[in-house]
Amino acid sequence: MYCRNCGKEVHPQAVACPGCGVSPRLEKKFCQNCGNATQPNQSLCTKCGAALGSAYAGAKNKLAAGLLAIILGSLGIHKFYLGYNKEGLIMLLVTLLTCGFGAMIISIVGLIEGVIYLTKSDEEFSQIYVEGRKGWF
Ligand SMILES: [Zn+2]
Ligand SMILES: [Zn+2]
Repeated sequence: MYCRNCGKEVHPQAVACPGCGVSPRLEKKFCQNCGNATQPNQSLCTKCGAALGSAYAGAKNKLAAGLLAIILGSLGIHKFYLGYNKEGLIMLLVTLLTCGFGAMIISIVGLIEGVIYLTKSDEEFSQIYVEGRKGWF
């Protein structure tokens, strides 16, 4: 991907751009897909057509996923919410197949995950769980 602040090519997992030092996803000056200059209010790159994600999309997902994990963790709802259908199904099945016994363990897992989600910064959250597709913790 390209740094959205300076347009330099950066590693997709990079937390800070080696060129300008800020988070590559923080600004909206360049397309993350092709490095083309973009306007802050643009939703699609005019050069390559890539969706230019908003920094605030992650914040909304983080709060919702964190709360779902804490409240409904034993049903794996937060996993489905984040698109981790396999992990969500595992949590749901453990809860159902153990007649609620496993729900205690699973809800603790959900609670821990919810707290981890909420303690991450918005950027970290979207990098790790939305773009990074990290299924557990
Ligand atoms: Zn940069
Ligand atoms: Zn582009």
